Amino acid sequence: MIDIENLEVRYGDFTALKDINLHIPPHSTCAIIGPSGCGKSTLLYAVAGILKPVQGRVFIQGEPVKKNRRETSLILQNYGLLPWKTLWDNVALGLKIRKEDKEILSKKVEDIISKLGLEKHKHNYPSQLSGGQQQRVAIARALTVGPDLLLLDEPFSSLDAISREILQNILLQIHLEEKMSLLLVTHNIEEAVYLGQKIVIMEPSSGRIAHILENPHFGDKDFREKLDFYKTCMEVRKLMEKGGDIR
Ligand code: ADP
Ligand code: MG
Repeated sequence: MIDIENLEVRYGDFTALKDINLHIPPHSTCAIIGPSGCGKSTLLYAVAGILKPVQGRVFIQGEPVKKNRRETSLILQNYGLLPWKTLWDNVALGLKIRKEDKEILSKKVEDIISKLGLEKHKHNYPSQLSGGQQQRVAIARALTVGPDLLLLDEPFSSLDAISREILQNILLQIHLEEKMSLLLVTHNIEEAVYLGQKIVIMEPSSGRIAHILENPHFGDKDFREKLDFYKTCMEVRKLMEKGGDIR
């Protein structure tokens, strides 16, 4: 799905990413984890085609990445909802921009609203929704366009622990049903271990990848309750601590 070769990204003189090589197979998930400032968002934006590398290349489905690829959906941390539009209209936004036929649009929006359990709130405005509900709206909107790749930048970081777990469950369920690839940026170890089939651990400040871990337990909805979950979290934590820098 995604092939990254020798990627280097700079902001002026500052090297934010260096020597990044990563292969993410179709229909799989990958979690990028590392402390604040290590280059996670930069990597996501490079995959979204928003940031141009100074070196190396990013391929999606074998094609050099380009901005506004139709089948890529990006979900940002602040939800990106329009406060003056209702939940329904916010979900419909992506399809409206693509000038989808009205009846098809209506059906798709209703289906996805119900899938995410938002029916009761569909005429509400974002300010009338909880953080978790707003994040569901953002996910719903991203899904309406039928993406084969979903990019998420710390999507649940502002939620309380229980809401975060509920949304992680929803995201895993949707991935298992629809099989789109997920690239998820997080600084939360449990989240990376629950949602990452591949877990990429970034070095704290060099812009490089420290470790890549394959997660054989991925896809088990009850994984959190198992000893292997705890063990995998410990393994990731140790690899992150090895990183060195003082945070
Ligand atoms: P993360 O998402 O892991 O917190 P980022 O990818 O946002 O990290 O940033 C990586 C590094 O690049 C940080 O040191 C950050 O300060 C720097 N950086 C990010 N965006 C810019 C920018 N627009 N201009 C200059 N430096 C930036
Ligand atoms: Mg970031």
